[in-house]
Parts: sequence; C-alpha cells; structure tokens
Amino acid sequence: MAKKHIIGIDLGGTNLKIALLDRSCRIIHKHTQPTDILASKEMLITAIADAITRILSLYNLTRSGIMGVGLGLPGPIDFDRGIVHFFPNIPGWKDVPLQKILEKRTAIPVAVDNDANVMALAEFTLGAAKGARNAVCLTLGTGVGGGLILDGRLFRGSSYAAGEIGHIPVNEKGPACNCGGIACLESYIGNRRIAQKVKAVFGKDIPLEEVSAMAHRGNRKALAIWESVAVHLGVGLTAVVNLLNPDCIVIGGGVAGAGSILFNKVTETILLRAMLVHARTVRVVKAKLGNDAGMIGAGLLVKEKRR
Ligand SMILES: [Zn+2]
Repeated sequence: MAKKHIIGIDLGGTNLKIALLDRSCRIIHKHTQPTDILASKEMLITAIADAITRILSLYNLTRSGIMGVGLGLPGPIDFDRGIVHFFPNIPGWKDVPLQKILEKRTAIPVAVDNDANVMALAEFTLGAAKGARNAVCLTLGTGVGGGLILDGRLFRGSSYAAGEIGHIPVNEKGPACNCGGIACLESYIGNRRIAQKVKAVFGKDIPLEEVSAMAHRGNRKALAIWESVAVHLGVGLTAVVNLLNPDCIVIGGGVAGAGSILFNKVTETILLRAMLVHARTVRVVKAKLGNDAGMIGAGLLVKEKRR
C-alpha cells in the first residue's frame, strides 16, 4: 500500500503540536496539547507516543500507511543518530536516543531535528524562502534560533549544530550568555532583554505586541526600542550575509510581529554595513507559515531522511 500520510510534531517548552499531513506536507488535521504539566522525561515520551496513536485512530489509519513521524525539538540534536543531547528549557534530558525509543513504541520510522532546522526546511520548501538557493531562516523569541539552507539543502555542520545565529558575538565585551559565550546577539535582542528595556524606558511591564502597536502609532520611545533591536539584528546578520552570501533571509517568531518597523531597519542596516555585492543580492522577508512551520517542517524531515 502506498504510504499516503506523514505525522509532524512540533515540541516546544510548554506545548506539543501534532499534525497529520498529506504526502506534500499539507496539514489535514492539527492539535495542540500542553506538556508543562508532565513531570518527567518518561511522561513526555509517553505523551508523544499517545498523541501519535490518537491521530491514527481519529482518521482510522494503520501504522503501515504512515511514511514516518518527524519531530522538531527545542534543543541540540544528533540528526543522523536521532539523539537529543539536552533541552535548555526541559529538565531531565541527556543524550536520549529519542528516535529509537519512539520507533520501538510506535513501529513507524521517526526523524528528529532541532526546531530551527525544521522551520528552515518548511519556509524553504513551502514558505517565504521558496525558490531561494541560499537562505538564512531566523526565529526571534526568548531565544534567537537559526537554520541554514545552502545550495538548496539544509546545512547541519560537523556536529549538527550549525546555524546558531543567536550566539554570534556582536561585541568583544558584553553580557554573559547561557551558552557560555559573551556578548551573543541573543543577549541583546532576546524577548527578555527587550522586555527589560521596555521596563527601563516606560517604568512598567508592557507586552511586546503592545510596544509594537505603540511604535506603529508613532510613539517615539517605542520606535527607539524596535530600532535598537533592528540595528543589533542587522549588524549580526551583516556577518552572516558577508560570510554566506544568501539570497534570502526569513525572519519569524514573536518579535517578527513588530513588522515593517523591524524589517525596514534590519534591511537598511544590512544595506549600509554589508559588502556591496552581498547587500544587493539579499532580501529580508517575513516568515509565511507562522505557528504551522514546526509541524510542516517536521513532516519534510521525514521525506529528507528517506532520500
Ligand atoms: Zn550565546
């Protein structure tokens, strides 16, 4: 029987999103469930396996009709061996052979990779970087994740850890980062840092969506906050642009919601700072697939692994 379906799973720090996809990785059905209530690694693995079983029975599908299950995961992964090294925001995981464990429990082929790579696969194949040859995909949130498409393929690096754009140092000295580095881009433009700035400027906590809305209404203080985020990001991306000469940079994640205020200044900074040939080649665009990118990309991972 032809394998007509793929299952794509996007695991975050607090939620598990699961989708039944067709062969082209279009979403047929999706479901989100909280995971922060699960106390242990075992409980989380069981929740993943149960979610797979549920979606199969919902559509009356057999395991043999599924091409594979792909998972996008919030931490460093050994793609070829299917091992989770650790999760920065979920305790209890150390060098867990998740691919093997899930294959044993579900009797379906499994592919795992980190969430930024999965997002890059999705935006490159079906989203904002479609048609690009060399694309850099970023997610801006609590952290700054990155995935690289080089010569039309996802580039993983020697230990599957390439693309950590958030941990490019943008200064010689500066704040210490969780990764062990100093003055990483993420320390300047991660959600928490922006929220701190907002509090320092306005004297109270204001949600970042509201700060974006204020900036779009012309509030000068709010505009200045987004401009400084955009300049830091533009400087970090200038390093990437000069190094890789991409034709497309895709930016997604919560912070990208600031929209034109952010994108215009990022583009302007790259045009100003990058080398001429590089600068005139690259376009900076907003991610297209939003919250579905993780599930779709996880599905594409299955197809990539089978090749
Ligand atoms: Zn860092």
